[in-house]
This record gives sequence, C-alpha cells and structure tokens, in this order.
Amino acid sequence: MMTAPRVCGYRANRGVLVLDDDGSPIVGVWQPVCAPEEWSALCATFGDGSTYLARGSCTPRITGIPKTIKYLSSSLLRCQYRFPDEAADGTQVTRVCNTPMGGSKTSSKRSPYVYTRTTCSRNSISGPMVDEQVQRLLMAKLKQAQATFISPDITWPKAVQLTQRADKLAELEQQ
Ligand SMILES: [Zn+2]
Repeated sequence: MMTAPRVCGYRANRGVLVLDDDGSPIVGVWQPVCAPEEWSALCATFGDGSTYLARGSCTPRITGIPKTIKYLSSSLLRCQYRFPDEAADGTQVTRVCNTPMGGSKTSSKRSPYVYTRTTCSRNSISGPMVDEQVQRLLMAKLKQAQATFISPDITWPKAVQLTQRADKLAELEQQ
C-alpha cells in the first residue's frame, strides 16, 4: 500500500504510472499522503522485482523472482545427483539432476541449515560449510580481478586542439 503511486497523488493503471504526453505523471484530484520525492525514496528502498512494488489488485503478478534470499548460496548451487537413465539406443547412462538447491533450516547445532533439493531429495549439504567455500571463492576471484586490473589509459581526444587554441589565445593576448 505504501508503494502505491496514489499516496503521492500520482495515478496508476494496473501498476503502471499514468503519464501525460510529456511523460510526466498525471496527478489525481485527491489529497496526497506524501510528496512524490518521499514516495520515490520509499520505493527505492525495495529492489527491482520486489513484490512490495506490485501496486494494487490489478497489478500483474511478479513470478519467478524469489522474495528474498535467506541463505547465501540458495539457487547458486545445483543438485549433482546422477539419475540412472536410458539413452535412445537403449544403453544405460546417468543424468545429472542439475536443479537449483535452496537453504532449509535444521535442528542441528553444527549445521543450522542445509542446502537441499526437495523434488529429488537425493542431495543435502551443510549450509555453513558451503557458504564458507563460496565466500572463499568469491574473495579469491575479487582479489584476482584487483591484481590483474589495468587502469585504462584515458586520453582526451581533443587535447591537441586545446593546446593549439591555448597557444592561439596567448598569441592574440600578446598583440
Ligand atoms: Zn536433485
């Protein structure tokens, strides 16, 4: 409700701001609750695709975007369980499950959450252990990126022109 454009006087249709020909929001005739700047600032506190930004009952539903990620490696990990399968020619093969794994709470003290795949329920791994490894990989990657970073040699294409003009100006001033 707080993110509904009408709180700052703007009109919206199915979650999309109603704009005039110049692209400015059309203002309704009611008494607004806050100023448009305050409303923008409030909306900016929610990420893109946040369900809190879905405004009103006719707003198209946001699907496929998880509301929040509670555990670091959620949906980054893929289940590597191998299913026995049969190829087209009848030979026995294995197929990797490869579906994203999500975090889920456990009662264990050492591993208060695990990453698991509920649909095949063949794989489960200690959450804190995985997150530590993911953090290490990420830090190593960032370190490497920093070590190999070469700052681009930025030269202004009109530098020569500027020198020429400055010389010309100095010349004229001397006259
Ligand atoms: Zn699986």
